[in-house]
Amino acid sequence: MLTDKHVAIIGGDARQLEIIRKLSTLDAKISMVGFDQLNDGFIGASKQTMDDIDWSTVDAILLPVSGMSTDGKIDTVFSNEELELKTEQLSKTPEHCVIYSGISNEFLDDCVEKSNRSLVKLMERDDIAIYNSIPTAEGTIMMAIQHTDITIHRAKVAVLGLGRVGMSVARTFSALGADVKVGANESYQLARITEMGLTPFHTSHIKEELRDVDLCINTIPALIITANVLAEMPLHTLIIDLASKPGGTDFRYAEKRGMKALLAPGLPGIVAPKTAGQILADVLAELLTNEATN
Ligand code: NAP
Repeated sequence: MLTDKHVAIIGGDARQLEIIRKLSTLDAKISMVGFDQLNDGFIGASKQTMDDIDWSTVDAILLPVSGMSTDGKIDTVFSNEELELKTEQLSKTPEHCVIYSGISNEFLDDCVEKSNRSLVKLMERDDIAIYNSIPTAEGTIMMAIQHTDITIHRAKVAVLGLGRVGMSVARTFSALGADVKVGANESYQLARITEMGLTPFHTSHIKEELRDVDLCINTIPALIITANVLAEMPLHTLIIDLASKPGGTDFRYAEKRGMKALLAPGLPGIVAPKTAGQILADVLAELLTNEATN
């Protein structure tokens, strides 16, 4: 239980509601900032402004999955209020206060460092990344169906990268009957691809390997589908780029060549906000409970 734990939840989207629901069930005291247009009420949770919060009692701060902008602004879909978290507010929290954010940037890192608090980047955790790969794979299927006129079954699909997302996407498309090849750069990954019953190729051969695919799904966060590679791909190939912005595709050249290349960020929050929220809520509840018992 999180009785007596004070958590400030600042900004966010529908995913935050699942977190608030979970923490409320665990008896936490919750200050919700940036939720003034939300009609739902939660036991133990109160809507507040940044100025109302008694920072000296805050044990944990939860920022949105996107963290904060490069100038310190925090997004919220439930308010028109402009939200900003400053070093001076963080400095007023108890020393043990932990900041949880999906991702971080220089601005947030700097704020946390100056206030001498600790930061947990939830999206970098293996457990969250693996759970999140499930709605990501489902969202990729949705996009493939929406943007092609062929079935996934029997389609020639290339997945680039065998990380947490690549593995789920490759397995899911294969289960739907696609002919899946996977590009990776490490020999243990090529071995794993073979073990999964899929066709491996080394990313150094990407140009030759993408010459005959209907769908190419990139998960590698580096420019890998270059103009050079695109120039030899069939014009009908759909590229779905899942890697974080700016993706791994030369979108300018793809457009010039008349190919459809889509950057598809944030699929879990789009196709399954409730599940994506529950994934975060479960892990966060465990982290806060562990802290409370330590
Ligand atoms: P990950 O587990 O780190 O996997 C990334 C893979 O890319 C690894 O296999 C890595 O190989 C490989 N890689 C990195 N740089 C490479 C390069 N230059 N050449 C060849 N391979 C390279 O990451 P993940 O969790 O799967 O996430 C992949 C991307 O998707 C990230 O950018 C993440 O932010 C994004 N993402 C997007 C969504 C969405 O909705 N669109 C959802 C979740 C995640 P090594 O292990 O050998 O480095």
